[in-house]
Amino acid sequence: MYRQAKYDEPLIFELGKKGRRAHLSPRCDFSRDDIKIPENMKRITPPDLPELHEGEVMRHYVHLSQMNYCVDTNTYPLGSCTMKYNPKVNETIARSEKMMYLHPNQPVETVQGILEVLYDLQMSLGELAGLPHTTLQPPAGASGEYTGLALIKAYHVDNGETQRDEIIAPDSSHGTNPASTVLNGQKLIEIKSNEDGRVDIDALKAAVSDRTAGLMLTNPNTLGIFEKDIIEMSNTVRDAGGLLYYDGANFNAIVGKIRPGDMGYDVLHFNLHKTFATPHGGGGPGSGAVCCNDILEPYLPVPTVNHDMDKDYYYFDYDRPKSIGKVHGYHGNIAVALRAYAYIAALGEIGLKNTSDQAVLTANYAMRKMEKIDGLRLSHTSAIPRKHESVLEATPFLRNHDVSGMDIAKMLISRGLHAPTVYFPLIAHEALMMEPTENENKERIDQYVQVLEEEMDKARKDPDYAHQAPKWTSIGRVDDAYAIRNLTLSWKMMKEKQEE
Ligand SMILES: *Cc1c(COP(=O)(O)O)cnc(C)c1O
Repeated sequence: MYRQAKYDEPLIFELGKKGRRAHLSPRCDFSRDDIKIPENMKRITPPDLPELHEGEVMRHYVHLSQMNYCVDTNTYPLGSCTMKYNPKVNETIARSEKMMYLHPNQPVETVQGILEVLYDLQMSLGELAGLPHTTLQPPAGASGEYTGLALIKAYHVDNGETQRDEIIAPDSSHGTNPASTVLNGQKLIEIKSNEDGRVDIDALKAAVSDRTAGLMLTNPNTLGIFEKDIIEMSNTVRDAGGLLYYDGANFNAIVGKIRPGDMGYDVLHFNLHKTFATPHGGGGPGSGAVCCNDILEPYLPVPTVNHDMDKDYYYFDYDRPKSIGKVHGYHGNIAVALRAYAYIAALGEIGLKNTSDQAVLTANYAMRKMEKIDGLRLSHTSAIPRKHESVLEATPFLRNHDVSGMDIAKMLISRGLHAPTVYFPLIAHEALMMEPTENENKERIDQYVQVLEEEMDKARKDPDYAHQAPKWTSIGRVDDAYAIRNLTLSWKMMKEKQEE
């Protein structure tokens, strides 16, 4: 038997009635036979489209858009995701006709404008990273990681050191780090964090060998803690012949403050869709731009965007014999790059630094308020202040009231607020990971924490209230374990299961 979620929002397929129409198109003044579609490519059955009145179509989609939760409607402190406000001017630029009608196959002389933008963005990112060469091809952070690790691999192979196949990463790292390593055919060596929540230097020293391809480090790490021994770490890996990869997805805390290149790092990925605005989430388009130093430059994906200074001419350089090849169709998600360019250009050097200051201040303010709530405690208390985010543990609450971190998150949803990231990183217990970003002012944080306190009060009196949350949402508490074992990924699959 298939267990149906409490879900009363009909799908558009369920609203359709045969013969209803949203739009009347003019009659064709040519015969279908005039359209020269090869026989084997013609469809045999008509598409299974819902038929309904335009007004109903409109209501359906407008209602769905109102059910959406987004930074434009409320606080969205999802840790390690940097859900920041996206200036609307970026959207206007990304949707301008000049952008929309560009085609990647156009001759280069007709696209000098966008190439200049991409080139300038590459330069700006290179400057922020302290690593001068950039590719904008990778379409996500994970894909940037894959690309960066592929550069490291290509470098070692080129130097005849094919045995260097181990990537070292701390146990606080984002789940994409091990995944990118494995996809690259490299072996992950996980090292433990110490009591401070930082990389254990002795564990790192014990892990390096002549098989070390590189270290993959997130800094500030996913606990929001800056790796203060970063220079010693770089030296340790470099002395062993390894290279240094910087996961820059948490760059929001350090933009314009420090540069990974100056800390000895060889390659880094940015999440343009986190640090430099762009609506993201749900797997939407992103950009995991990668910057590297001179030794890795020859291996960058093909083509790179270059500038001929003498002729003041921008071009794609395909003549890259050592390149790892392409990592994405054409040149990456250009609209995301364009938004990042607009964001950086609008804020400038001082503006970017201020953004970081504000993000860090807000994160620490929220952390200090939340740790005072009875039942929550800060993880890894020896590292204060934090950077862009902090992790609170609901362990005392679970012990005393049988109400978990997950229950707390669901209660916040009942109140119409987005929860922090839960149960990540794995080295914290009952984790609630909070990253308000620079978006949120003091009043918003105060309000958020007040709602959190009110809900935890209710849970103290009645733990069942917490176990049954969220209330008043179209979908109630989902049975995660059941859902993962019985993946139902489409409406058709759901119907089939219901009929079983
Ligand atoms: C978000 C994130 C990633 C992955 O980025 P995606 O664009 O989601 O693939 C990698 N590392 C860290 C630390 C992140 O926060």
